[in-house]
Amino acid sequence: MDKLLFGTGGIPVRTEPRTYEKAFNDLLEMKLGCMELEFVHGVSMNAKTQSLVKQIREEKDLVLTAHAPYYINLNSAEEDKIEASVKRILDTARVTHACGGYSITFHAAFYMKQDKKQVYNQVKAKMIEIVETLKAENVQIWVRPELTGKASQWGDLDELIRISNEVEMVLPVIDFAHLHARTGGQWNTYDEFARVFERMGNEIGVHSLENFHAHIAGIEYTAKGERKHLELEESDLQYKDLMKAFKDFNVKGVIICESPNLEDDAMLMLKTYEAL
Ligand SMILES: [Zn+2]
Repeated sequence: MDKLLFGTGGIPVRTEPRTYEKAFNDLLEMKLGCMELEFVHGVSMNAKTQSLVKQIREEKDLVLTAHAPYYINLNSAEEDKIEASVKRILDTARVTHACGGYSITFHAAFYMKQDKKQVYNQVKAKMIEIVETLKAENVQIWVRPELTGKASQWGDLDELIRISNEVEMVLPVIDFAHLHARTGGQWNTYDEFARVFERMGNEIGVHSLENFHAHIAGIEYTAKGERKHLELEESDLQYKDLMKAFKDFNVKGVIICESPNLEDDAMLMLKTYEAL
């Protein structure tokens, strides 16, 4: 990626009619450069729509990412649920690739009260299987477990850095709202944001900072982690310091805004970033 793009998690709120074509037009008018396809309730997009999305994406030069279904647990106690989870990730990757997409993300697993090391090995085994299948199908896309918002969910910063080093085609999605919420309010200062970028650059490599995929939103949280997304100005997230850290570390890639007012907060972050 040659710069940092800002966009929305799903079709912008203001878009009417709710088509991809209109959404992409609206994004360009707002100077937003990317959008995440929300397959959170299932991967359903027919082949005709996929090729249309691919064509318009190319014309507009927008970057597309996708969020896989929520119903994923690569560490389920039931084998059929694990296989269904693998299929949901594969289908998300296949459809997003057919749309000319860049990166997909998902909440990989729950710890299920098990030992973290054991869960890591289980997730890693399934990630290798997923990546091998995609490679065999020539589906080239970043496959990214998301930094999750609750302590019961697999996917903290250490685990994501490690799996990015151990499995090809894998990099993290850093959800800064989740990082802040799952630690009960930490990771909300310039130095802490800088630490994320330092660790990724040092421990994964500079390619992880040049192909970044972030989620950002305001967030309400308890000691157990995230409760709900908020607009940035209603939340305690220090997004101005975060934008400064993105700038200082010369991070390139996509920032997907997941605040309830999607495009307004995406534009707020873009303006903040550009003014630095
Ligand atoms: Zn997510």
